[in-house]
Amino acid sequence: MDHPAAPTPPGRTIRSAELLAIGTELTVGETTDTNSGELARSLVAHGVGVTRVTDLPDHQPTVVEALRAALDRADLVVCTGGLGPTPDDLTREAVAEACGEDLATDPETLGWLEAMWARRGQPFPAANVKQAWTIASASSLANPHGTAPGWWVDRPDGRVIVLLPGPPREMHPMWHDVVLPRLTARGVGDDLDVRTLRLTGIGESQVVDRLGEELLRRTNPVVATYARHEAVDVRISARAQGGRPAAELGDEAEAAVVSILGEHVWARGDTTWADALSESLAARGWSLAATERGSGGALVGLLRGMPALRRAEVLADGEAMPADPPPDAEHEVREAERVRAEAGVDAALAIRVEATGRDTIVHVGVVVPTGRHAERRTVFQGGRAGADRAAIAGAAVLLAALRG
Ligand code: AMP
Ligand code: MG
Repeated sequence: MDHPAAPTPPGRTIRSAELLAIGTELTVGETTDTNSGELARSLVAHGVGVTRVTDLPDHQPTVVEALRAALDRADLVVCTGGLGPTPDDLTREAVAEACGEDLATDPETLGWLEAMWARRGQPFPAANVKQAWTIASASSLANPHGTAPGWWVDRPDGRVIVLLPGPPREMHPMWHDVVLPRLTARGVGDDLDVRTLRLTGIGESQVVDRLGEELLRRTNPVVATYARHEAVDVRISARAQGGRPAAELGDEAEAAVVSILGEHVWARGDTTWADALSESLAARGWSLAATERGSGGALVGLLRGMPALRRAEVLADGEAMPADPPPDAEHEVREAERVRAEAGVDAALAIRVEATGRDTIVHVGVVVPTGRHAERRTVFQGGRAGADRAAIAGAAVLLAALRG
């Protein structure tokens, strides 16, 4: 053999990763790339910064170019898709080309594939032979859920390429059961601390104003805001620096955010309203009933699955409403009293939604063993989105009452 032996991979710690999602179904918009999001969350949780995510068509030159560029920048490149048996699946060919290696059939993988068809009593299709192809620097990753084995490729410079099958039900177990343990054993990630504070009763632009540019422009920790359906999230992501652990820097940034916006923080991480309310109710051993009017089931949708929820009533706009005089400020508190008595529960929440063109007014009544609360809020959205926001406003009033 006239090739020099490959140098031993230096002990490169994997700190950065790029993700390539390969498949024309992604770039024509027929399939949404969910694989990359899942991989990114997992990598970030392991202290690996994901520096780029790319969707690519099944076009070999495009994939080769993207692989080469990604390998120039990142310690780890994870590809999903293009491992099928059909001619358009060419991720293996692209990796072989990008690495300058020749494809050869791996007898062990071929035997495994042939045995799979033999068990079904069917002849082995010639098209599937390519799923047994490999290159010298790749090792095969078993796929108990399909016919496409993955690849783990060690580059001479210590970088790693991982190929995973496209179908999420095959990709997921291969990543969690095979690749992650191998990455962890090999040394992965920086000391990274990521936390999210969930805010309510304040808009994203106000959050940005109050946090101020200085805090939001810092590069470590990074403090960023995200307007989501359920909350405005403030995400703090810290990296160990100057001998200080990431958690310490994260604590410091969190304290700064809480000192500015503490009264709006209702949860952490990916806690939902149902989670937060369930936790507070469980702590007191209280059960809950709810009634909503004019919101088309938005509140039931929000509270769905809560173990403490005994009854949820959805009323149409004018149903059983006094026409004259119009309902006073205590109307929803009385509604809460009513469902509380009817359901024989400890706590009750009532909301009534009034659409006013572009905005939505929500009247909230809460009754808990320790008190009664009436509140009227305006949410700056109409229609279904307004009703959803109104339900969240109701949940926020209830949570505040429970936390008392
Ligand atoms: P492939 O491995 O390219 O043969 O992919 C097979 C199937 O997996 C596709 O038809 C999609 O339904 C699904 N798939 C591929 N890539 C992704 C992705 N990035 N996210 C979600 N599903 C995917
Ligand atoms: Mg494909």
